[in-house]
Amino acid sequence: MQHISVIGAGTMGNGIAHVFAQHNYSVSLVDVSAPALEKALATIQQNLDRQLAREAITAEVKAQTLQNISTHTSLPEGVKNASLVVEAATENSELKLKIFRELDQHAPAAAILATNTSSISITRIAAATKRPEKVIGMHFMNPVPVMKLVEIINGYATAPEVTTAITALSEKLHKVPCVVNDYPGFIANRILMPMINEAICSLYEGVAGVSEIDTVMKLGMAHPMGPLQLADFIGLDVCHSILQVLHDGFGNPKYAPCPLLVNMVTAGYLGVKSGEGFYKYTKGSKELVVSERFK
Ligand code: NAD
Repeated sequence: MQHISVIGAGTMGNGIAHVFAQHNYSVSLVDVSAPALEKALATIQQNLDRQLAREAITAEVKAQTLQNISTHTSLPEGVKNASLVVEAATENSELKLKIFRELDQHAPAAAILATNTSSISITRIAAATKRPEKVIGMHFMNPVPVMKLVEIINGYATAPEVTTAITALSEKLHKVPCVVNDYPGFIANRILMPMINEAICSLYEGVAGVSEIDTVMKLGMAHPMGPLQLADFIGLDVCHSILQVLHDGFGNPKYAPCPLLVNMVTAGYLGVKSGEGFYKYTKGSKELVVSERFK
């Protein structure tokens, strides 16, 4: 695989483009929004500077990485030479189905079409194309340049040679691939999201406060971050929509999003991205401050 196209230049898309480009793949980064592309390039540059300062890369690698990335607002233009497309656009099923119909039309017939979706069915996305055997989940973790895992998800029709190719490619990026099957939430979010939801329910029912819940899980279970802080980091809207996928997919009430989570999302308290969730975030400060609402 030589040429990689990444669709969506947000939080995940810029990280995915960064990692491929750093390992010498030529990358076309595609977004409908030109400002998003500019922001993505600025973020990649900043992250490369950080790697350079830590002596994790050389100045030559930084320059080559930036040179390996081109940006496009036109999808047909951005995918015309792709051997692999990794879709990392907004988590919305109708949008992803539309993008995959377009990718099927404009990417070379031999290209593998991967999605970085956190929870949407790979089988359903694949069924929107005429090449379901070449569609697969390639689920990177945030922040992509730092996190080792790639959860690889086989759709119902994914061909074994496609799984083998994506596994080998993940290893070339110095990531650790883990292959799983396509059921709601796959593995990462099927296990993580009920834990986060249970932490929110414990807060809602008054069992303990924000700091106590996160401290128990950090110090008691050796988690690097407590579940409420992690929920803020992921985005409470994202947690809510993944829980909804689990709830709808399994039809089991144990996955129902906690009413407190629903209220916070409805009110726009989404965590780090909106400035407040369980904690309050001030630009430039690394201090972890519990939101006034939970004191
Ligand atoms: P984001 O909101 O930061 O970025 C999404 C980008 O997609 C935006 O720049 C938007 O302009 C672009 N976009 C929307 N429609 C498009 C289209 N038709 N064509 C091209 N670009 C389009 O989202 P994100 O957090 O980067 O998430 C992207 C995907 O990665 C989602 O499927 C999400 O579930 C998954 N994911 C997110 C995380 C996380 O922690 N944020 C972790 C793992 C997986």
